[in-house]
Amino acid sequence: MEQKKLLAALPSVDEILKSPDGERWLSRYPRRMVLQGIRDAVQSERDAIFAQERRVLDTAALLAAMDKRIAELCTYSLKSAINATGVVIHTNLGRSVLPDSVMQHVVDVASGYSNLEYDLEKGMRGKRYSHVQRIINDITGAEASLIVNNNAAAVFVSLTALAKGKEVIVSRGELVEIGGSFRIPDVMSASGAILREVGTTNKTHLRDYEQAINENTALLLKVHQSNFRMVGFTETPSVEDLVALGRRHNIPVMFDLGSGCLIDMKPYGIHIELTVQEVVTAGAGIVTFSGDKLLGGPQGGVIAGNKEPIDIIAKNQLMRAVRVDKMTLAAFEATLHLYLEEERARMEIPTLRMLFMKPEAIKKRAQRIASRLRKSLSADDVTIRIVKDASQSGGGALSEILFDTFAVAIVPKKMTVNTLEAKLRKQKPPVIARIKDGALLLDARTVLDKDLPLLASGVINALTA
Ligand SMILES: *Cc1c(COP(=O)(O)O)cnc(C)c1O
Repeated sequence: MEQKKLLAALPSVDEILKSPDGERWLSRYPRRMVLQGIRDAVQSERDAIFAQERRVLDTAALLAAMDKRIAELCTYSLKSAINATGVVIHTNLGRSVLPDSVMQHVVDVASGYSNLEYDLEKGMRGKRYSHVQRIINDITGAEASLIVNNNAAAVFVSLTALAKGKEVIVSRGELVEIGGSFRIPDVMSASGAILREVGTTNKTHLRDYEQAINENTALLLKVHQSNFRMVGFTETPSVEDLVALGRRHNIPVMFDLGSGCLIDMKPYGIHIELTVQEVVTAGAGIVTFSGDKLLGGPQGGVIAGNKEPIDIIAKNQLMRAVRVDKMTLAAFEATLHLYLEEERARMEIPTLRMLFMKPEAIKKRAQRIASRLRKSLSADDVTIRIVKDASQSGGGALSEILFDTFAVAIVPKKMTVNTLEAKLRKQKPPVIARIKDGALLLDARTVLDKDLPLLASGVINALTA
């Protein structure tokens, strides 16, 4: 058929709405989405006709395209996904997975009224921060604490409250960019604090800090280098030494720890990260860290430390702009409760469980995935092997450590590995994997047990449908 005839043969929106398909869609989906879906599909068909890709009008295919588009328009944009990357704290995939007990508490608190800002003893207005302060102080050893929307906010509000118009001394080796727009010098200037950089990129001595101290110095700031590592000829004073220096001049030390590690990982052979408790014990007056990195809880930022600076921060105007909601508070409190017994934290907090998972256990999970796949896939379509690989913690934590892991390596024979990777992202739920040496790797460390069947069916569907 020629273009004109094809275009004239396209059904009108009204016709489609009155067809059995149209009636079915209207009974199931919001009218505006049905209209949008029909128009989108007709437009694609028109484009195809203009591009001379059509000889005949396939009405059944057009209706199927509408059905797909309407369903697409009516699904949530933010949805669960399967993380087969092996990066445990994957910022793009939502960082920490919350424990079931924590989610249950969030549902309880948020699906009804709560004592969010109500003092049940006194029968009057209470403080929202009170619900987590005691437990944070108890676990970290800090005198006082606050919680805000994320660690970036924790750093920003602390600097504004304590150092606006004053100098903050930072080592040149710690003027890092964490990701996105969070760069220490920029955060500092936005907060109104004056950056006083000392030392060199690789070496900063205690005397460098000491020489920079003057009557306008508000803080000595230490920043965890997050995803960045310096090796070789490097030096930086310990927190203890900085604290001792600060005490001599009556200047507090603030430490942006980034990842809030609350348990000592040395017994498990993970040696690098300072725990929050260690930094507090060393005498840092203000410590900031994230809730959803190594702590394994919801997005949030904790400010813990001495009562005096924390009280000043609590009174700052900005606290209102960065305050946490009830769901975050509920999730935080429930996550922290798990830390009251370290064993429970390690077993029940998915982030910790995945990091501490033994390679043999990961290998077993990889084998379970592989055997599910082999049952439904033919050797003509694909080769499937178990390979040894390395996973990462992610989230700027433990960035120098590669964790031994096992992955299912898939080499498709009838499509490229890149096509397979892209098709996996379109599954329900989407599967996020990585490509290495011409194979698609599914790292079993970060695949949740409950997702094994969905992962297998997603891979099978991507390879065969
Ligand atoms: C991750 C990180 C931040 C930002 O924390 P968010 O919770 O993502 O806002 C700030 N500082 C350091 C050192 C970090 O590692």
